[in-house]
Amino acid sequence: MFSLTGEQKAIKKAARDFAEKEFTKELLLKCEEEDGIDILQDLIRKASQLGFSNIEFPTEYGGQGYTFFEKVLVTEEFCRVGSGVGVAIAEGCGVAATLVNAVGTEEQKKKYLPPALKGDGGIAGAFTEPAHGTDITFLETFAKKERGGWIINGTKTFISGASEASSIVVLCQTNPDAKPPYRGQTLFLVDRKAEGVEITKLKPKLGLHAWSTCEIKFDNVYVDDFSMLGELNRGFYHTLLLFNQLRILGGVRSLGMAEGAFESALKHAKERIIRGKNLVSYQGIRWMLAKMAAKIELAKLLVYKASYLEGRGVGDPVLACMVKSWVVEEMLNVIDEAIQIFGGLGYMAETGIERRWRDARAFKIAGGTREMALNTIADFIIEKNYNLIW
Ligand SMILES: Cc1cc2nc3c(=O)[nH]c(=O)nc-3n(C[C@H](O)[C@H](O)[C@H](O)COP(=O)(O)OP(=O)(O)OC[C@H]3O[C@@H](n4cnc5c(N)ncnc54)[C@H](O)[C@@H]3O)c2cc1C
Repeated sequence: MFSLTGEQKAIKKAARDFAEKEFTKELLLKCEEEDGIDILQDLIRKASQLGFSNIEFPTEYGGQGYTFFEKVLVTEEFCRVGSGVGVAIAEGCGVAATLVNAVGTEEQKKKYLPPALKGDGGIAGAFTEPAHGTDITFLETFAKKERGGWIINGTKTFISGASEASSIVVLCQTNPDAKPPYRGQTLFLVDRKAEGVEITKLKPKLGLHAWSTCEIKFDNVYVDDFSMLGELNRGFYHTLLLFNQLRILGGVRSLGMAEGAFESALKHAKERIIRGKNLVSYQGIRWMLAKMAAKIELAKLLVYKASYLEGRGVGDPVLACMVKSWVVEEMLNVIDEAIQIFGGLGYMAETGIERRWRDARAFKIAGGTREMALNTIADFIIEKNYNLIW
């Protein structure tokens, strides 16, 4: 029987208390109107100081020494209260800090992790290019060996948190003739302020206004050999390590957003009077709420199982892809039903429900698309004789 430990319950509660105190309605609305991320830096530092945003990293670099599972618990609570603001704060270290921790040298970890884990600018991960998103097996951001280091040229797009990052992990084609081409890709750590790096925030966009989405141009950017992250020509394989986590994170963010929407809709349905009766007394609404609750429970089981295994170092790509495809889709449906229960009010920014839908919609695309997740599940169950771990 699955159950959280006392410590995990305490972490979840502390994250929720923090989010309820700090993610005020005014802040959430302000982040929609202004460029959210610019007003969240102090809050990211505070969440880092309290050990929320860096929970899964080793203590020697400034983390809390827990696992990916505890990160998922914190993310769920942050997104339950803050939706996109919750994502931005939970990801204060930047999505690629995990990669630095996984494949970086001791020297690189000591240099790059402590500032990111303190909240002084995260580590963004730049993989997608204008012509290569779903399929990054060949890239047009090239790194050439020159002047005792490497020269990087190319463009990355839709990169989360790049404008406020301290550094960027960039996947580059180092050997264009490699066969298959992904065996000629390498990761590099690039200072955001390095000469030749130009970052532009992409907007307007549908949601996630508290978390920047950027284009990054690399124009003859020089990096030394120390900046190579992981092994030469193994960058694609290193990146896959991160993708399992990104898929689960997309799921848990959507789950948290849906839980918050469900709680608001339930409260509203209990309070709203229509034809002299509480809305919650109508059968149609009762069934909607019952189905929403069941979907949330199922999503939670899948997310927790996938992240628990991931946190123990035995992550399962099929489970991560099930989270990515099923959980994200169903949680969007739950939020959509919450909008319906609110009626016209649900369409207004004031209730915060429509924002949850706009924020959650990103995760059918970001961190690997739903279609690619379904392709992976199909490959495993049809060609690879895959059995679920139970
Ligand atoms: C909010 C946001 C944040 C992001 N953050 C980052 C980030 O931090 N770092 C980063 O590197 N990238 C990031 N991305 C980029 C994201 O990973 C890509 O958008 C995604 O991988 C899809 O690539 P694409 O946009 O080029 O779509 P395309 O590759 O053009 O695909 C278009 C559509 O075709 C579908 N498709 C493609 N091939 C197949 C197939 N074989 N079978 C069925 N369907 C298929 C796709 O699923 C998709 O629906 C982010 C995107 C968003 C929206």
